[in-house]
Amino acid sequence: DAKDGGRDRAHAFDQAMLDQLNRRIAVIERLKAAVRDQKIQLHYQPQHRLSDGCLIGFEALARWNDEDLGTVGPDVFIPIAEQTGLIVDLGEQILRNACTDAHGWFKMLGSEAPVVSVNISPVQFARTDVSRSIANVLAETGLPAQLLEIEVTEGVLISEKSRVATTLTELSTMGVSIALDDFGTGYSSLSYLKALPLNRLKIDRSFISDLAKDTESPIVSTVIQLGHNLNLQVIAEGVETDTQVDRLIESGCDEGQGYYYGRPMPLAEVNTYVAGCAATSRAGKTG
Ligand code: C2E
Ligand code: MG
Ligand code: MG
Ligand code: MG
Repeated sequence: DAKDGGRDRAHAFDQAMLDQLNRRIAVIERLKAAVRDQKIQLHYQPQHRLSDGCLIGFEALARWNDEDLGTVGPDVFIPIAEQTGLIVDLGEQILRNACTDAHGWFKMLGSEAPVVSVNISPVQFARTDVSRSIANVLAETGLPAQLLEIEVTEGVLISEKSRVATTLTELSTMGVSIALDDFGTGYSSLSYLKALPLNRLKIDRSFISDLAKDTESPIVSTVIQLGHNLNLQVIAEGVETDTQVDRLIESGCDEGQGYYYGRPMPLAEVNTYVAGCAATSRAGKTG
């Protein structure tokens, strides 16, 4: 009867919740081991200047392929790492590995080498001395500060405003660049754009996908103008088509990142990619 049906539904609901909880516990356990054993890897996605197509940098993106769970995306494991505090160790590893890899490009190309961009979580700002750990990693790896950029989201700027501002100023003084990631998706107060030592705005992918065949996006052109008025470079995320490249160039956007240029790739492929781009730009300069 109705009473029993209710009990069954309640039971099924409990089971679904239990399954979800067990899955989450499994992911946490495996993630702990992966951080401990340094199993999280970095892939790199190229960033190019729109005007001449020149390679300017790579964003480091975390990748996890677990022997039990298979591939788990950063959209899943980064939030879990943040909630469990694992992001403190993981973030440090990511920073050190990215700077080590970028130092390899620096040895190959000197100051012309591509910049490496590393995502820093709001939890790292809250729980660690980000500027000190970056200073240490730069000293250990030998990477010039000018070849490191950090990406922060608008969320970072909302919590503990003054402490974050101090940290960003310290980094900026060291010569590290600061990019505001996923711009346009957060709860932004435009006043902090002026107050903080930012170098770049990254326009979120969701706005770029609106740049359809024949229509301009008023939001994209407005963000580009805003960035330029504040003396910031503007880079578009999620550039996939040549139509988007044309629209972005028309709107005065500086740089682009997305599948159009290249997908995130493992380090071995990056080195080939960098060498190819260096050869092309040398050929361009002399020819
Ligand atoms: P994000 O920093 O905004 O990174 C850009 C995301 O867009 C990446 O997803 C990238 O693979 C994807 N993407 C790039 N180009 C295109 C494109 O043309 N089309 C489409 N559809 N997607 C594109 P991914 O690697 O899954 O990373 C997701 C998010 O996870 C990142 O967003 C970032 O917030 C976070 N994340 C990744 N690695 C790290 C890390 O090392 N540390 C921290 N704290 N967060 C990370
Ligand atoms: Mg990013
Ligand atoms: Mg982004
Ligand atoms: Mg994003």
